[in-house]
Amino acid sequence: MAPSGTPAVLPYGRQTIEDDDIAAVVEALRADFLTTGPTVEAFEGAFAETVGARHAVACSNGTAALHLAMLALDVQPGEVVIVPSITFLATANCARYVGAEVVFADVDPASGLMTPDTLAEALTRLEGRRLRAVLPVHLRGDVAHLPSLATLAQEAGAVLVEDAPHALGSTMTFGNVAERVGDARHSAMATFSFHPVKTIATGEGGMVTTNDPALAERLRTMRSHGMVRPEGADPWWYEMPEPGFNYRLPDILCALGLSQLAKLPRFAARRRALAKAYETALAPLAPVVRIAVQPQWSDPVLHLMCVLIDFEAAGLTRRQVVDGLREYGIGTQVHYIPVHRQPYYLERYGALHLPGAESWYAHCLSLPLYPGMADEDVGRVVAALGAVLAGKRFKPQTAG
Ligand SMILES: *Cc1c(COP(=O)(O)O)cnc(C)c1O
Repeated sequence: MAPSGTPAVLPYGRQTIEDDDIAAVVEALRADFLTTGPTVEAFEGAFAETVGARHAVACSNGTAALHLAMLALDVQPGEVVIVPSITFLATANCARYVGAEVVFADVDPASGLMTPDTLAEALTRLEGRRLRAVLPVHLRGDVAHLPSLATLAQEAGAVLVEDAPHALGSTMTFGNVAERVGDARHSAMATFSFHPVKTIATGEGGMVTTNDPALAERLRTMRSHGMVRPEGADPWWYEMPEPGFNYRLPDILCALGLSQLAKLPRFAARRRALAKAYETALAPLAPVVRIAVQPQWSDPVLHLMCVLIDFEAAGLTRRQVVDGLREYGIGTQVHYIPVHRQPYYLERYGALHLPGAESWYAHCLSLPLYPGMADEDVGRVVAALGAVLAGKRFKPQTAG
């Protein structure tokens, strides 16, 4: 329990689990297959249809999805994968799992996204090594400019793998064509996560979508130990041409995923409505507080409500703002610390100058955004932010 006078902390994100989600899991627990059963295929089929891809391969989490994508492409040690520096660690780490080297691309400081310009700059740092994949991240839920990034990648002999955990439900319009994130029209594959803060939750869970049947088959093989069953072989027979992993998603969690996926339209509408409410409520705090810029082609279902704060103009450090908001019962998070600054990558690649990523990191703060928020919560968050920026500390009411 929170001490009296202190409101319960509103987290920056959380899952929405309802009675029918729980019932779906209970039913799955009573079924014949707890794993590798029919609910896996049912979830994959529904997911593929939702995002408009030919194939969807479920796996244990979003990090496994990225690793499987690298394995499916057969990325080799010493080859290069380009990753934006503003992302979660896993986007870069998946390259290292297969021995590939990471080249960090800068991002646009206003949107946090990798752009054709920042990718073009990263391409000048290949140093003769072979580029295999470029991993744009649809940060916050806004969509990177996939056609331009795909063209640049293709010219360099590589493919796109979209790291899309933030953007389930997001759509985009390039030219006059409406597209869905995950339809993999411009990329070899797109990856998703069902971590509790993401748009739908299975606790842990992930998915890879693709339109390429050969990639889908490789993803399935590598998800389950690298085992293949040659056609016409004896019923007990399996072969392992190369070792894979156990990255399966059990039927129990696929049942939860199916139940959650059916709610995506409602979750998406709620996130869109809350984002709109934030836009209106935050306007008076400009220019000290600005919402991250939405590219004109992007129609996002925002995963994160990222604002960029001019802490210098406010005369406060980010720590003071984070702590101040916490006193008002508002949780926040920073998405993300530039990955190129992590000790491991710093030691491996040395200090990099990525001014867009540094600027994004210096200003960003993620405010609470999830479907279970009440309408008044948005006003409460923005009022608290305004008060903190004006130097007002929360005064707990004294009991009695
Ligand atoms: C959540 C996330 C991941 C990792 O997903 P897990 O399911 O937590 O392993 C990877 N990339 C991005 C951009 C994410 O947001």
